Amino acid sequence: MSKRSRAAEYTRRIEATAAAADAAGIDAVLVQPGSDMTYLCGYEALPLERLTCLVIPARGEPAIVVPELEVLAATASPVGAMGLDILAWPETKSPHKLLAKRLGKVKKVAVNQQMWASHVFALQAQLPLVRLSADTTVSELRMRKSEAEAKALLEAGKAIDRVHVKVPKLLRPGRTEREVGADIADLILAEGHRSVDFVIVASGPNSASPHHELSDRVIEPGDPVVVDIGGTMPSGYCSDCTRTYHMGRPGQAYADAYEALRQAQAASVASVRPGVTCEAVDAAARDVLKRAGLGEAFVHRTGHGIGLSTHEEPYIVAGNTTKVEPGFAFSIEPGFYLAGKYGARIEDIVVATTDGVLSCNNETRELVVVDA
Ligand code: ZN
Ligand code: ZN
Repeated sequence: MSKRSRAAEYTRRIEATAAAADAAGIDAVLVQPGSDMTYLCGYEALPLERLTCLVIPARGEPAIVVPELEVLAATASPVGAMGLDILAWPETKSPHKLLAKRLGKVKKVAVNQQMWASHVFALQAQLPLVRLSADTTVSELRMRKSEAEAKALLEAGKAIDRVHVKVPKLLRPGRTEREVGADIADLILAEGHRSVDFVIVASGPNSASPHHELSDRVIEPGDPVVVDIGGTMPSGYCSDCTRTYHMGRPGQAYADAYEALRQAQAASVASVRPGVTCEAVDAAARDVLKRAGLGEAFVHRTGHGIGLSTHEEPYIVAGNTTKVEPGFAFSIEPGFYLAGKYGARIEDIVVATTDGVLSCNNETRELVVVDA
């Protein structure tokens, strides 16, 4: 995308935020550095204590408040090409006064979820009669991925798939989770990510802990190994994919449980189409595991949205009646976890299309048996 068309896309997103705020009766939306700001203007400002804040009035000109020493950095970002008003504040002045002045006469202001509490309270002190609330307009826009965003997620999926292809070669009895994890982190970068976001290598009984990361446990024959990995691509979009490996052939009980999990994950993916609720996509996986007697062992939601952050809206969980729309992108990652014994998880990122679903991850979902 050219510099100019990228700037036009950011401007369109800011206009959409303003329109959504207007429709919700909110006078302005404030956005601090983080993935919302990256989404709206491409400025990946450092999340420092000094106030940097995008100001999006429901009606009127948007602007960005930046510390004086960051003006050059802001101008070098797409903010420059967008022609956004840059309001610089000198080191010894109050940025909150400047922000309040720019907001003018407002009654309701939404602050984005990444805004620091210190700034929220300082702004409230400047505007005692204004009602501040948590913003939802930007996260709702971010749920609906454009074609370019969906393509970026597909690229991220391919890159992490290439890492999973190489994982069996790294898994050998006698190696620790930490050693394997370090090799995987190198591969995540070698396969095209700009950063490593997380590496989970959960072996043996550790596989029963969904967010176990790495330990010095030595991998042994007979271990299941859950490998859940992700990084951020140069595009800014994230990957996240889980496969489960087994050191040698599994016993019958594990093999049966894994087969139920594979069916649960497939059923959930197959349920995705426009109009289906997020909670129905969750139920599609959960029902299969319940029937296999593993309902209690599936201790987390089925998935989370993904884009410029690894976890974002929509959450695939009971109680979320949001209906899937084309462009929604999220993980489908059921698992079973039996404390003290073992666990497993299968995770793909999917993008809803006009008539179904596209999977960003396409390596085998069978249990990968590694020689041990
Ligand atoms: Zn994951
Ligand atoms: Zn995930």
